[in-house]
Amino acid sequence: MNLRTVKRAVKRTLSSLPGWRVLGPIVRAPGVIVLTYHRILGKERRLPGISIEAFSAQMRWVRHHCDPIEPDSLMEHARRPRSMRPSVLVTFDDGYRDYHDLAYPVLKELGIPAVVFLATSFVDQGGMLWTDHVEWAARSTPKERVKLPWSDHPEIVLTDARSRVALSDRVRAHLKTLPNAQRRSALAALMNDLEAPEYPDRQMLTWDEVRSTMDLTRYGGHTHTHPILSRLQRDEAALEIRTCRDRIASETGKTPTLFAYPNGGPADYTNETKGILRDHGFTTAFSTTEGIAGASSDWMAVPRLPSGDVDMPDFVWMAAGLMRS
Ligand SMILES: [Zn+2]
Repeated sequence: MNLRTVKRAVKRTLSSLPGWRVLGPIVRAPGVIVLTYHRILGKERRLPGISIEAFSAQMRWVRHHCDPIEPDSLMEHARRPRSMRPSVLVTFDDGYRDYHDLAYPVLKELGIPAVVFLATSFVDQGGMLWTDHVEWAARSTPKERVKLPWSDHPEIVLTDARSRVALSDRVRAHLKTLPNAQRRSALAALMNDLEAPEYPDRQMLTWDEVRSTMDLTRYGGHTHTHPILSRLQRDEAALEIRTCRDRIASETGKTPTLFAYPNGGPADYTNETKGILRDHGFTTAFSTTEGIAGASSDWMAVPRLPSGDVDMPDFVWMAAGLMRS
């Protein structure tokens, strides 16, 4: 047996109920598994996300093997010793419409609470996150050759689906490094060049959908327009955070205390950002740094685990915090 076969066998064992209960407490770090989801895909699969089938299977596994928790008890559960049934908090970033249409019915059936972090301008006005805009434009542009306006490199030839994905990855990676105003103008120039059609369907939640899912869902902040906060001046970052908080409070009647940083990596927020959040009443902020939320976690940069359209042994491996093993 080679190493890969052994690893696969271990993953399979871990994902079984006895395997999880016996092996889990040995291999898993103590603390709360905070899962991160974005878009859930039904029949429509033109943009990336995780299929509703995979999501349902993951939630059923969580229901049977773990203890799903409410966000209010996160800190208390993070300090508990290891157990056979670890605590799990389910979170969604951005506020996609499919949370209401696809994810919420599954969570409701299973009685699993969730947190959804809203970028409020999109709930107010519709439209797409800029990262989705890039993704969609790269996939749908009629152009066969693209010259990036900020680069001296020769034209990129869009021969197949893979080259389109590569274009999207490259554009998003570059734009994420820019100050916000510069990012907006570079994006506008590129979109103009790509001549992509409008995306046909509504992408994000409406306030009515937000209100109709509140029995099981806590809504948290994710800024107003989804900029990377560390690329903004202090007063711009404060305005993004305040507007988001006030829009959620006025539409739901509940002032949010939870927040997730757009992009969420260590370079995407600063100590100043954390201070602004605290000044606006936020008590917990989530990053996208991979890890388990334990007793020593920074509550203004709580680690989470990514999700993916993976099979159950890989999901369980990931949920145990073993991705890099
Ligand atoms: Zn986001």
